[in-house]
Amino acid sequence: MKIFKSKHKLKKEISNIKNISFVPTMGGLHKGHISLIKKSQSFGAKTLVSIFVNPKQFNEKKDFLNYPRNLKKDLKILKYLNTDLVYIPHLKDIFSFKVKNKIFLDKFSKKLCGRSREGHFKGVLNIVNRFLELIKPRYIFLGIKDFQQSYLINKHILKTKIKTKVINCKTIREKNGVACSTRNNNLNLHQYKIASNVIKYLKNKKRMIKKNLYNFRLADIKKDLIKLGVSKIDYIEVYNLKTLKKPKHTREKFRIFIAFYLNKTRLIDNI
Ligand code: AMP
Repeated sequence: MKIFKSKHKLKKEISNIKNISFVPTMGGLHKGHISLIKKSQSFGAKTLVSIFVNPKQFNEKKDFLNYPRNLKKDLKILKYLNTDLVYIPHLKDIFSFKVKNKIFLDKFSKKLCGRSREGHFKGVLNIVNRFLELIKPRYIFLGIKDFQQSYLINKHILKTKIKTKVINCKTIREKNGVACSTRNNNLNLHQYKIASNVIKYLKNKKRMIKKNLYNFRLADIKKDLIKLGVSKIDYIEVYNLKTLKKPKHTREKFRIFIAFYLNKTRLIDNI
């Protein structure tokens, strides 16, 4: 496993590698990240994992500072997985060059997380655009847990004609149903139990909505979630994955998208 902190050294190393599979992360690695890395390795190209907590995608400094980090453990996991290349840039290293492609922000960026996290997706695309220019990967592996993020990265790639293919990876969950997330490290046992009850409730709700699309009100769901112990609901929406609009027929495939707070910890999921 080769670790790089400088883009120049990384560029030199990868200049002769034809196909790279890229897995961007913010560290605090868990089973979700591991599944992305394993999927990437199954594609046969060299796998490059980046670890970078991108300050530009946090809209509150406190949230950025509280984001769980554990580089030592991350490197142990990456070594165990036989990861080929790891890039851990400093802020300056990744932000100190001029990029060729302008960021394309699709209008879907205004919905869901875009409504309450001003500048978040611009910050995400800024860093991803830089990584893509530097690494020029054949594939980029992204989790559909962050469906909106993956969707917007794909739109940017298509619009700017970058030759990287997005591979969407399924959401990995803990035994209690909660999606693995670095932010789960900030939950106490009680909050973790509430998170689990939220997922159980939403899975059940989805089954009911599938049976009778008209028989639900988001306001009622919100009330139920507060009763379960959720501190605040940022949003809850039911969207058809293709049209990104509310489904009109029970035949349509849809997901329930949610962002909620347990005390200060914000979790997102789609079910
Ligand atoms: P993050 O480190 O949170 O920025 O996530 C890095 C990548 O891992 C993103 O593409 C996420 O969508 C993905 N990811 C995060 N959590 C999960 C999960 N539970 N299952 C699958 N992929 C995930």
